Amino acid sequence: MEHFDVLVVGAGISGIGAGYHLQTRCPNKSYAIFESRATIGGTWDLFRYPGIRSDSDMYTLGFSFRPWTEAKSIADGPAILKYLRETAEAFGIDRHIRFERRVTAAAWDSATSLWTVDYEQGPDRRPAQATCNFLHMCAGYYNYAAGYRPPFPGEETFQGRIVHPQHWPTDLDYAGKQVVVIGSGATAVTLVPEMAKTAAHVTMLQRSPTYVVSRPAEDALANRLRKGLPAMLAYQLIRWRNVLFGMYFFNLARKKPERVKAGIIAMAKAQLGPEYDVGTHFTPAYNPWDQRLCLVPDADLFTAIRSGSASVVTDQIETFRADGIVLASGAELPADVIVTATGLDMQLMSGLKASVDDAPVNFPETFSYKGMMYSGVPNLASTFGYTNASWTLKADLTAEYLCRLINHMDRHGYSECRPIAEDPIEPAPWLDFSSGYVRRALTRLPKQGTTAPWRVYQNYALDLLAFRFGKLEDGVMRFSKPRPPITRPAATGGRLASPPPRQMADA
Ligand SMILES: Cc1cc2nc3c(=O)[nH]c(=O)nc-3n(C[C@H](O)[C@H](O)[C@H](O)COP(=O)(O)OP(=O)(O)OC[C@H]3O[C@@H](n4cnc5c(N)ncnc54)[C@H](O)[C@@H]3O)c2cc1C
Repeated sequence: MEHFDVLVVGAGISGIGAGYHLQTRCPNKSYAIFESRATIGGTWDLFRYPGIRSDSDMYTLGFSFRPWTEAKSIADGPAILKYLRETAEAFGIDRHIRFERRVTAAAWDSATSLWTVDYEQGPDRRPAQATCNFLHMCAGYYNYAAGYRPPFPGEETFQGRIVHPQHWPTDLDYAGKQVVVIGSGATAVTLVPEMAKTAAHVTMLQRSPTYVVSRPAEDALANRLRKGLPAMLAYQLIRWRNVLFGMYFFNLARKKPERVKAGIIAMAKAQLGPEYDVGTHFTPAYNPWDQRLCLVPDADLFTAIRSGSASVVTDQIETFRADGIVLASGAELPADVIVTATGLDMQLMSGLKASVDDAPVNFPETFSYKGMMYSGVPNLASTFGYTNASWTLKADLTAEYLCRLINHMDRHGYSECRPIAEDPIEPAPWLDFSSGYVRRALTRLPKQGTTAPWRVYQNYALDLLAFRFGKLEDGVMRFSKPRPPITRPAATGGRLASPPPRQMADA
């Protein structure tokens, strides 16, 4: 059985970043990245729908340790994938990746301070095991096997093609066709202008509107700075400007929602003209940042609507029929192709079945520690990015913190660290977000508390201070040393005596 000091699961943004931080900050530790697919990149390789792109800027979606040097700040999927591949190669992280290893379960044994990890290997999914001292789950936040796809009445009668963006068919030809995209999230607003370039017409069919904000695809200041300054310096400056602007905008939206709402709607009106019904199609019932804002580069969605190649319909689906969709209002939408941009099936840690000393871990019963570990679960971290900022900001901090923890344990001879929720914690939902994919998953997610370290702050600056400089021995994280070997006293007739209690090292 192979053994690693740290086993990282997943070779997307988070796993590649974790690899970098481990080899840089814990150079004496062995690590491997188990990746279930045959390639790296995660999300940025899996999603192949037309126009796939980031909806946050690459100066914050990029890694802290490697500058983004392309002209576009809102980048397309292939450019992001290239950046990830090149990063993995440049730092030799790719040599640590073991492809086609799908981790399914992990069992912690306190006597040996080891995780035994079950995984399926190769295309025929042969069962295998490995052990590690620390398990770092970087498996993303959704089910890779399938997206969320509610059934629609009458869909079996539809004569055209129905496709889900998570499994985009390579042979789909929509040129000159009538397309209906069901949804109003980031995927729908990406797909609509892109497909409208060649389709006869694209209709975005939404039950309710989303806030849509336009930003330039290229960041003019960033591009100027990159010409005059060393790449890393320019990158850090723009990164911090974007972080601070994002935090300012989020806080403003929380404190003065009406003002921010009015500003976003005014921008949509300016784009679409006075005749357009912005009230119906671009004015959500919720406040900005109750759900993620949809960012469109260079107003491409609005341009497509203005040109007439795309339109938005806000209505409910009554039924599919052979040649389209009938709506609750009685209106009919002709369709040759229907894209169900209905979202993701959120899943924590890829549905890992974990146990601690043979007791199964029920993650929804646990409290999340700093948004990265779980009460009562030793030596296991998982990466989950921000809902109001780029994922990588938190992924970098999580990986850095884990390295601090590992080095601290080494210095003190600890083999185990376990966050313990001793005092009662007031439970709160793990994510304070009203998006459909979050609401559908809340009962399957751990809880958070209302104060540190059990609270999940959606705030990079606060997290940066806590993760980089905060006390590791905070009274909640309990460290313990390896158990002495079990002896066989004569009184037990040579039978194994029960293991001695663990030596707990409280703060
Ligand atoms: C279409 C789309 C657009 C997005 N745009 C943005 C954006 O602009 N900005 C932003 O901040 N976020 C965005 N996100 C969120 C995005 O997922 C993150 O930014 C980021 O890519 C997550 O990286 P990750 O490595 O944590 O997870 P993933 O990219 O999901 O990678 C997880 C990896 O783990 C592997 N894996 C999963 N389960 C197992 C297992 N059991 N065993 C072994 N390997 C496993 C997967 O195969 C995959 O390679 C977007 C998401 C989607 C779906």
